Amino acid sequence: MDDDKKEFLDSLTELEEGKTYNFKCYPGISCFNACCNDLNMVLTPYDILRLRRGLNMGSVDFLRQHTTMHMDADTNFPEFHLRMTDGASRNCAFNTKQGCSIYENRPGACRMYPLGRATRPDGKGGVCEQFFIVREDHCKGFLEKDEWTGASWKKDQGFEEYTANNDRYMNTLARIRQAGGPVPEKMGHMAVLTLYKLDEFQRFITKMQLFSRVEVDEDRQKAVMSDEEATLEFALDWIELMLFHSTPNLKAKGKS
Ligand code: SF4
Ligand code: SF4
Repeated sequence: MDDDKKEFLDSLTELEEGKTYNFKCYPGISCFNACCNDLNMVLTPYDILRLRRGLNMGSVDFLRQHTTMHMDADTNFPEFHLRMTDGASRNCAFNTKQGCSIYENRPGACRMYPLGRATRPDGKGGVCEQFFIVREDHCKGFLEKDEWTGASWKKDQGFEEYTANNDRYMNTLARIRQAGGPVPEKMGHMAVLTLYKLDEFQRFITKMQLFSRVEVDEDRQKAVMSDEEATLEFALDWIELMLFHSTPNLKAKGKS
């Protein structure tokens, strides 16, 4: 974690397990839409899958139009941010007077707001999670009566669909850091293709005959080529196999 991210989390109040906070956000609240501009929001591979699918866009067009990218110094992996509109307002492109135009597929960070969620590997392939309250002066939702724990907010906002994919990705990044840091440049570029351009990765699988190099049964092969959630799961397995030569759900052919 870089210093800016650590400093940001350190500045927030932790919402301990079982503890509650008051919050409600709805059209008609005086601050409606005040939070959807000037954001510095990282999009996970699953965020991008959902956004693209909701907008019915190819990955190349989506990434060009709606994101900015840099390589993270700790890992040498790509980090995509949601692009704000040009000009002084730096608005989110999906922010309309009626609210979020891609609400059903809004990114995980938008779902969790006003909570931040931090995770660390639990050593068993899963994660331990912590919630933090992001209390900003312009947000009047805290004056409402509805009461939430971190777990009930997560469920209400449909974040649970995001958890498995995002947590798996965070574990991969943690594994890279534990292994000593930045991956070779070539692997960083490979991660752009495999994790963020799933439609292109499907074509790459066919062109490079990847299934002939790993043990994948026919059902999984079909799923990987037709369902981008399965493609992303395979992409994470493939990346880990390339980087660490082992991953629980994928074996190279001929290896025991
Ligand atoms: S994606 Fe939707 S909820 Fe998220 S910042 Fe943009 S308009 Fe707001
Ligand atoms: S500022 Fe807070 S209450 Fe207002 S629209 Fe944004 S999240 Fe909802």
